[in-house]
Amino acid sequence: MTDTQEDLRQLGDRIEARVQAIRAEHDWWPCRRGCDHCCRNLARPLELTIAEWSRVDEAVAALPATISSEIQINIRALLNQIEGALTTSMICPYLNQQDGCCYIYAARPIACRTYGFFVARDHDQYCTLIETEVASRGDRSITWGNAEVVRHDLNQIGGTLIPFDVYYNHVKR
Ligand code: SF4
Ligand code: SF4
Repeated sequence: MTDTQEDLRQLGDRIEARVQAIRAEHDWWPCRRGCDHCCRNLARPLELTIAEWSRVDEAVAALPATISSEIQINIRALLNQIEGALTTSMICPYLNQQDGCCYIYAARPIACRTYGFFVARDHDQYCTLIETEVASRGDRSITWGNAEVVRHDLNQIGGTLIPFDVYYNHVKR
């Protein structure tokens, strides 16, 4: 594993520690295997650092051929959707749409790891299921993860974010 991939792995571990702490303190937390609302309704197409794209590519290449072909078809469909400016109802191409689980879970991007548990004041990326759940419980005791710190650390490790269509149309050819 390269130093960059090791740094990315360690960042993932730090995020996981906060995720586990939140789960331990709030056993009603809705994130669970098969809960795929966030993956079926992308707020925007994935934007990843080159280190994350490399890890995703490696994970896809290691999947059985039928699944990686399915993912290639999904990627092409999302590229067409973006090209046509149809940016509502975007489904992540790495989602197993039958069981609602991520095909590349161990290699999933940092944004997927933080999505339900970290907040950034200046951003609109959050899960509405969780927002509703927290509001209905009136729970003010949550120590959310800090998405701004993660964004800074990720930038240090992997550089700038490369949008999905730029990556597949221009970087990975
Ligand atoms: S972030 Fe929201 S949609 Fe995604 S797994 Fe958690 S509760 Fe489900
Ligand atoms: S990479 Fe995986 S976890 Fe992230 S949005 Fe796609 S399917 Fe969901």
